[in-house]
Amino acid sequence: MAKCSYCNKEIEKGTGKLFISKTGKIKWFCGSKCEKNAHKLKRNPRKVKWIKKQKKSKK
Ligand SMILES: [Zn+2]
Repeated sequence: MAKCSYCNKEIEKGTGKLFISKTGKIKWFCGSKCEKNAHKLKRNPRKVKWIKKQKKSKK
């Protein structure tokens, strides 16, 4: 099973987005949100607020 390269969440088969960089590295993103954040912001995922909110809402 692939894991999101941005938020490290496990991606179910048939979902998520595959991204192949110019250097040939394969990256998976669970959604367009992660993809956009990873490419545009290039921030440390732990510092992004909406990921923290997502974890809390699981309880
Ligand atoms: Zn993700």
